[in-house]
Amino acid sequence: MLDWEQIFATRSSRMKASEIRELLKLLEQPDIISFAGGIPDPALFPDQEFKQAYADIFSGPQVNSALQYSVSEGYKPLREWIVKDMEKIGIDCSVDNVFITSGSQQALDYLGKLFLSPNDTALVTWPTYLGALSAFNAYEPTYDQLNPNGNRTPQTYRDNAAKTGGAVKFAYLSADFSNPTGETVDLAGRNRVLELADEMDIAVIEDGAYQNLRFDGEPVTPILAMDIARSGGIEQTRTIYSGSFSKTLAPGLRVGFVVAAMPVIRKLVLMKQAADLHSSTINQMAVEHVASRGFDKQVAKIKAAYSARRDAMLVALEKYMPKSARWARPEGGMFIWVTLPEGMDGAELLAKSLATERVAFVPGKAFFADGSGANTLRISFSCANEQMIDEGIKRLGRLIAGAETT
Ligand code: PMP
Repeated sequence: MLDWEQIFATRSSRMKASEIRELLKLLEQPDIISFAGGIPDPALFPDQEFKQAYADIFSGPQVNSALQYSVSEGYKPLREWIVKDMEKIGIDCSVDNVFITSGSQQALDYLGKLFLSPNDTALVTWPTYLGALSAFNAYEPTYDQLNPNGNRTPQTYRDNAAKTGGAVKFAYLSADFSNPTGETVDLAGRNRVLELADEMDIAVIEDGAYQNLRFDGEPVTPILAMDIARSGGIEQTRTIYSGSFSKTLAPGLRVGFVVAAMPVIRKLVLMKQAADLHSSTINQMAVEHVASRGFDKQVAKIKAAYSARRDAMLVALEKYMPKSARWARPEGGMFIWVTLPEGMDGAELLAKSLATERVAFVPGKAFFADGSGANTLRISFSCANEQMIDEGIKRLGRLIAGAETT
């Protein structure tokens, strides 16, 4: 028998299935109330709009190019639509600054590949998006904690990086309604991240996957927009913005994008040529078709549904959670982050919950690059109706209260 492990590259040792994913397989069972999935509600997909888009593409002159190979940069009319959409949030760029990816997950993989040599350091928030850690892990980095409220100096980061024999390359953060915490980094925090990046001469990767999903409160300027405003143009910036159509239109199409200065885009294009040539031509066309005819309407529909669910979840948390549990009110996105008293373990609680209360959530530990955060939970409101939210949080509150007393 071939000893596969012997011939796998060293980077493969950091590719591991998480125990949590195994546990979450149980979610298929119909009696479970799930707040675990970080996925959009399929009932809100613009399916009729996509049906029309594909019908139009197939019945028009575009059909041959829709089914053909296309350029690695991405479908130009979609990139042009993105330029206009970015303008609305203060990001002034040209079509050459926009690169289409197969979902924004691919952007994270490419950016890891582009910046991280083994032992280099990526600065990430504690906690951070698990998929970003998985994408970066393949490039064998170390992680250090990025805290937009600032508790580390550039020298500390450099000293830590020197210990592992690499250099700090970028700071990655999801600044709006983050996965997993639902929190938004305020303007002062964004400024601090940019200042830190200036001082260290590193890039900033701004993950805008949830950027469109603000339910209330004032929008906060994207870091890339701040960077453009202070530096006089996108070519002078150090921020790379990754965007997605997964949370607004549909994730199954796998269409995302990157907006950045040309030197970054040129490399990403070469990476795409080597990896998968280009993102699905027909799906890019369909996204452009649907987005250009009713993106804002679709986003408004999603926000109305999710904000009602967020409100229902906040009401239920107030009603049922024991006093010792804490959480913050997210202004958008899909998640609420719950912190339990020190010593409680989210993974143990999940196992118990699935066995007795039949409620699922994601234990927070997996989102921490240093393995801390055992007493945290991510609960998602995107796919649950208000009745399920009330019942599910009631059961979860009961479980946590019970765990406190044992
Ligand atoms: N970034 C964040 C913060 C996410 O939560 C997700 C999806 N869960 C992604 C990126 C990747 O999304 P996609 O590849 O579907 O664009």
